Amino acid sequence: MDNKGIGRYDLSKFCAVLAANTEFPWVSKLNSMARQASAERAWSAIARFFDNCKKSKPGKKGFPKFKKEQTHSSVEYKTCGWRLDDDRRYITFTDGFKAGTFKLWGTRDLHFYQLKQFKRVRVVRRADGYYAQFCIDQKRIEKREPTGKTIGIDVGITLFYTDSNGETVANPRHLRKSEKSLKRLQRRLSKTKKSSNNRVKFRNKLARLHLKVSRQRKDFAVKTARCVVKSNDLVVYEDLQVRNMVKNHHLAKSISDVSWSLFREWVEYFGKVFGVVTVAVPPHYTSQNCSYCGQVVKKTLSTRTHICPHCGHTQDRDWNAARNILEKGLSTAGHVGTNASGDIDLCMGGETPPSKSSRGKRKPKE
Ligand SMILES: [Zn+2]
Repeated sequence: MDNKGIGRYDLSKFCAVLAANTEFPWVSKLNSMARQASAERAWSAIARFFDNCKKSKPGKKGFPKFKKEQTHSSVEYKTCGWRLDDDRRYITFTDGFKAGTFKLWGTRDLHFYQLKQFKRVRVVRRADGYYAQFCIDQKRIEKREPTGKTIGIDVGITLFYTDSNGETVANPRHLRKSEKSLKRLQRRLSKTKKSSNNRVKFRNKLARLHLKVSRQRKDFAVKTARCVVKSNDLVVYEDLQVRNMVKNHHLAKSISDVSWSLFREWVEYFGKVFGVVTVAVPPHYTSQNCSYCGQVVKKTLSTRTHICPHCGHTQDRDWNAARNILEKGLSTAGHVGTNASGDIDLCMGGETPPSKSSRGKRKPKE
């Protein structure tokens, strides 16, 4: 913020300066590669901001924020500063913080990978505890038989989506369900005194509930996306700018709640895993055109049925839209998968483990 023209390497070099500075004794305690990792992450936030400005991306440009220690503290180690024990059920941190050895609880078998595949370890604090995330260099390819099926998806508010075959998936609306208790906790929190124990307690309760909602949301997105991708050879969806739509406040909550963008990220991810083509098409006229004769049939949001005066084709509005979306996708073959952020980085959130076998048996010792 204070110096112009600072680049990635200046940030890297500054790590050593900070480590030598007695004002921040904790910097020298942190493993040197972890220091570098944190400089890299800071730089990626700055670079993304510059990039958004350069491309004059509409809306907010994402000015880098300082991390909130209380709620978003995390540290990222690279290949040293930590060690897995032989049975890979304990992790020991070996840098100057002397954090010690921790038992790992989880459903993933770390024996499945070679040690050299472990590229990074992130320790992340969530409202309900500390998590170790292992970034593993492994190409995930899963086999699937071609089904010969294609699908167009029209996402909505009352229904999560309607596809080009007329199938619908209901919207679980997790947030709405938890809304009452969220509100109650929020009210309770605002009545507590600042920096009191009570405040800490209620802040944590609220954070846990938010965490629960976001996990339910992700779980739903992952499972639905996996199912859609696995059973089709081509998946087409609209290239929606959710950021712009959330500006409409009547729809805002429902739109964020159904978490289309999360769903889409996972569709694109599973597309890579299963080798299925995913296409995002521009959302213009998908609901207005007739999917049978192609003529424009104007309708408002409240018109739920598409009735074509030109050819007499009658179909549910969303079903008609989904067919148009599929049609667009088939005609723009070659223009494949858009992914605005470049690399898919879903490991911060982590995929929902397939089984929950070891849950319930967990008992914290220390
Ligand atoms: Zn028609």
